[in-house]
Amino acid sequence: MERLLEINDLHVSFKMYKGEIQAVRGVSFHLEAGETLAIVGESGSGKSVTAQAIMGMIPKPHGRIKNGNIIFKDKEITTLSKKQLQKLRGKEIGMVFQDPMTSLNPTMKIGHQIDEVFIKKQKATKKEAKEKTIELMKSVGIADAETRYSQYPHEFSGGMRQRIVIAIALACNPAIIIADEPTTALDVTIQAQILTLLRKIQTEKNSSILLITHDLGVVAEVADRVAVMYAGMVIETGTVTEIFEQPKHPYTWGLLRSVPKPDAIGKERLIPIEGTPPDLFSPPKGCPFAARCPHAMEVCVEHMPGAENFSDSHQARCWLNDPRAQAHLQVAAGGE
Ligand code: SF4
Ligand code: MG
Repeated sequence: MERLLEINDLHVSFKMYKGEIQAVRGVSFHLEAGETLAIVGESGSGKSVTAQAIMGMIPKPHGRIKNGNIIFKDKEITTLSKKQLQKLRGKEIGMVFQDPMTSLNPTMKIGHQIDEVFIKKQKATKKEAKEKTIELMKSVGIADAETRYSQYPHEFSGGMRQRIVIAIALACNPAIIIADEPTTALDVTIQAQILTLLRKIQTEKNSSILLITHDLGVVAEVADRVAVMYAGMVIETGTVTEIFEQPKHPYTWGLLRSVPKPDAIGKERLIPIEGTPPDLFSPPKGCPFAARCPHAMEVCVEHMPGAENFSDSHQARCWLNDPRAQAHLQVAAGGE
């Protein structure tokens, strides 16, 4: 499979009044052509910042990429100029955000907003653009697209607006679609429809999707692989089957316990993960989950766990999986 996107040891920080917040701390992953990779984590885990870095949208001057590479189709993105980045966005990388209203112009007809992409990026004539827009609106499930073409965003429901944003993202046939919490603002039935739409796009167009979400239920629906983020780091990564059936990190266990199972509704309570993530102004030197982890050992507080491989696709960073933990335990306890 072709490797479309590769992130290596990405570090992103933001200068604040209080100090420097280390939002992303050594993130590495890759995205292959035609696959959907979900990045999962609580808010503040660094998943959206990682996406912003890929899109060249880290707000300056406070934010900066301190270290690492982002390689898209053999091109290093972190060194591109503003202009080159703008060209990349929309044309090669399509974006879908949580609130569709932030991506739509409230004073412009929906159809014209999609037309613009065809006119600007593909040099289509107005007539060609309109034809393409209506076809695209139909393909994302907008009924009566000819009439809808001339309506304004406020005449659409939240779910329909998100379909429009997806249509805009698709207009240039991008190699990658980055979707940051695309269904979070929508009610459950509409969520399912949008996820079905993403899955349909993925199969039909063989696009790669980077899906950012806090919801493992969403992941099970659409993703091929998962990267679980916590406190600015990827703490576990694997195929959906590996993550759901053989999770290796206590944080992933906690996330899975907080997903409602359809057959358990009403019988089993969701168990939230107790506690809060660490302060990323001064991150802990050991495992970032130690303060909340029911399995924490002394070694966890003192030393950062390394990545352990369970298969070619499955890795986790936790001392429980490291045969050397015993040795460290002895060192930590002052033993031989
Ligand atoms: Fe828990 Fe230790 Fe594993 Fe961290 S390294 S998740 S504290 S057992
Ligand atoms: Mg976010």
